Amino acid sequence: RTPIRIGIVGYGNLGRGVERALTLNPDMRLIGVFTRRDPASVATLSPSTAVHPIDALDAQTDDIDVLILCGGSKSDLPEQTPALASVFSVVDSFDTHARIPAHFAAVDAAARAAGTSAIISTGWDPGLFSLQRLYDEAILAQGQTYTFWGRGLSQGHSDAVRRVPGVAAGVQYTIPSEDAIARVRAGEDPELSTREKHTRECFVVLEDGADADAVRETIVTMPDYFEPYDTTVHFISADDLARDHAGVPHGGFVIRSGTTSDSTAQSMEFRLALESNPEFTASVLVAYARAAARLAHAGDHGAKTPFDIAPGLLSPKSPEQLRAELL
Ligand code: NDP
Repeated sequence: RTPIRIGIVGYGNLGRGVERALTLNPDMRLIGVFTRRDPASVATLSPSTAVHPIDALDAQTDDIDVLILCGGSKSDLPEQTPALASVFSVVDSFDTHARIPAHFAAVDAAARAAGTSAIISTGWDPGLFSLQRLYDEAILAQGQTYTFWGRGLSQGHSDAVRRVPGVAAGVQYTIPSEDAIARVRAGEDPELSTREKHTRECFVVLEDGADADAVRETIVTMPDYFEPYDTTVHFISADDLARDHAGVPHGGFVIRSGTTSDSTAQSMEFRLALESNPEFTASVLVAYARAAARLAHAGDHGAKTPFDIAPGLLSPKSPEQLRAELL
């Protein structure tokens, strides 16, 4: 049925992005935002968006086709996705790679028992990058696949910088090595160390009286976070930080180079250059919500990942239109 009736669960960066993305998708309608906080404390982009306490979902089972889950992967989604899949069809962007099989099993059990359709780990990595890696390996049986991230803001590394004594504020960007990308594109199949694939760049505002050299040393030698990389630290003013580093850019490349006969080189490449990671991830979630609504309508229940979703299910166009326009 159209419009597809959507609920947003959790209103942070992704939740805001989904609210915005839904305005660009006329086959969908936002029923409301559902939050664990006091709804009065949650300011939505549009004043007409209804904000409800999450418990209000119990009374909305007949009013919502798909819930788009925008909680954090660390502790929100492992609880929320299985719990809500036992009542609603859902999509999430769960991105803790090592825990995806366990998350899938929990969501699948809940969705099968309830007769709902759940698509987990949409987004771009995991998500679109995973699909590209799958296409790459299925098509070029002989070759190597490389993923490069960036230029992008890393939340975890920015947090690590901000915890260094003497740092008042700061951000960290992950930057893919142009040299490494060029070698991969040229079909060299290089063995690349961590240090060779990415560099890290930090923009730091110092506290009054802090020792810049000591701060730099603490950052670049931080085990796991920065020690394995070549890291550059720039000291800037709070005004410059606010003016030049307020966005959340990200992206990257998935590249496979291989051969189909002795000296016949073939290369596949997929690139994302995102000015806003959350707005893009939200747009992916919205497309997968359309697929979830169609699966639910067709009685195709249980958990799925992007690997299980036929591409046509993401499009607002009918199969007939797609065959006529895009094939
Ligand atoms: P946020 O931290 O902005 O929001 C997470 C949750 O925290 C919200 O759902 C909200 O729940 C709560 N929250 C938000 N703002 C506040 C606040 N001011 N005070 C208290 N609680 C708040 O996370 P993001 O939206 O940036 O990201 C969510 C997840 O998306 C990430 O954990 C990441 O795993 C995933 N992601 C996946 C990607 C992929 O490619 N697969 C790419 C990017 C992100 P509530 O309203 O209930 O309080």
